Amino acid sequence: MSEYLSAEELKQHFSDIHPPFEHAEGAILEANRCINCYDAPCTKSCPTSIDVPLFIKQISSGNIKGSARTIFSSNIMGGGCSKVCPVEKLCEGACVYNLREEEPISIAKLQRYSTEKAIHEKWSLFERKPSNGKKVAVVGAGPAGLACAHALSLEGIDVTVFEKEGKGGGLMTYGVAAYKVTPESCQDEVDYITSIGGIDIQYNKELGKDVTLAGLQKEFDAVFVGIGVGVARELNIPGENLKGVVDAISFIYDLRTNDYSKITVGDKVAVIGMGMTAIDAATQSKRLGAKEVTMIYRRTEQEKPCTDVELDLAKLDGCLFEWLASPKEIIGENGKLKKLVCSKMKLGEPDSSGRRAPVDTGEIFTIEVDMIIKAAGQIPFEELVSGSALQNKGGKISINTSGETNLKGVFAGGDAVNGGKEVVDAVQAGKDGAKGILQYLKLSY
Ligand SMILES: Cc1cc2nc3c(=O)[nH]c(=O)nc-3n(C[C@H](O)[C@H](O)[C@H](O)COP(=O)(O)OP(=O)(O)OC[C@H]3O[C@@H](n4cnc5c(N)ncnc54)[C@H](O)[C@@H]3O)c2cc1C
Repeated sequence: MSEYLSAEELKQHFSDIHPPFEHAEGAILEANRCINCYDAPCTKSCPTSIDVPLFIKQISSGNIKGSARTIFSSNIMGGGCSKVCPVEKLCEGACVYNLREEEPISIAKLQRYSTEKAIHEKWSLFERKPSNGKKVAVVGAGPAGLACAHALSLEGIDVTVFEKEGKGGGLMTYGVAAYKVTPESCQDEVDYITSIGGIDIQYNKELGKDVTLAGLQKEFDAVFVGIGVGVARELNIPGENLKGVVDAISFIYDLRTNDYSKITVGDKVAVIGMGMTAIDAATQSKRLGAKEVTMIYRRTEQEKPCTDVELDLAKLDGCLFEWLASPKEIIGENGKLKKLVCSKMKLGEPDSSGRRAPVDTGEIFTIEVDMIIKAAGQIPFEELVSGSALQNKGGKISINTSGETNLKGVFAGGDAVNGGKEVVDAVQAGKDGAKGILQYLKLSY
């Protein structure tokens, strides 16, 4: 196992990956670069449709409060999103400056500039309508649940959120890489969202254990289920249960809830997968002090699920890559993890994802490892969902165009429905769920 790094080294390795503007002048200068495109491709590419040209114009004219209001009225987690959104494939990727081969406007950094100020200075930008006597239960205090709760509370509904963990924020708090958001900033964001009033978060209350869906249906006028996707996908290969084989979600959960110096990481780590979670597991292993981190992916770089920016981050952190490789067997010796045997793959015909499918060539190769992190995707809470009589596809809850499930008055959204996307998609799903609930309760929206 790896030698521990000093507290100072760990602090440096996990420091903010995208530091904010140091001075207002920097933000105003950047805001002035924006040409306020009439058709705003940045806004169109934002799942929550933030009016980007407007908030940037408000920053350039010194109206920071107005700009924060513009952002939060479309996306109440606009603060967190400014730090975690893969903007290269969203707003900044759509910026017209890219067409001129110039740096796109730093939209995320500008968004962070005004939202951080608003959260830090506790600006009260929204007023909740007086209570109308309706009560809604939200299950899960992740981005979807919190966005739904906020939108409902604004309309005068009393919202009770049931959250199985001890903190809110969902994967923002327990999943996203530690160099993007800190536990403190997640907590500040949850506090800011709930500061409008009318939202009571009941922590350590789990659906299926402490509360049931049938019970919530009886007690509340409507229910929103935003429980995310939970369990890591198994590799189903021999040796998977050996000590030293961990799943990325648990590894990152530990990292986000403990002191970095208490986290065990190997010297030679293999990470299985090439999605965002795999990149986060690999980069954070390296930052914790692993000497060698090899990422294993069964297709080529062209088919990778992560973005180029994420891959570059892993490259810059010194991770190694085995493309066209699939784990076949994990071998231990005297109770210690020793080797990962992989099959060499080649690309065949396209599969249902539209990408060429990996096909086993029959050749194998072996790498020496003392830790393996499985990041081959997450699978939904199928047992819980099916046990609650919710119609689903392999655990992904099915909803209609109003966000309602097969159960009357029960709505759902976020990762629990889409199987795992980004924070910004979950926020929009929470807003959509709130809209559906307001229509269901015959309240205006
Ligand atoms: C490792 C990792 C890194 C990621 N990095 C990024 C990133 O950098 N940028 C980005 O945009 N997205 C990222 N994502 C994706 C993003 O975090 C999710 O898409 C988003 O958090 C989904 O929001 P949600 O509210 O649907 O679910 P979640 O965030 O999962 O929230 C669900 C909430 O429900 C609670 N819950 C679950 N079951 C129950 C129950 N039975 N009873 C009560 N409460 C329950 C959970 O504790 C949680 O608080 C990452 C995901 C992972 C796994």
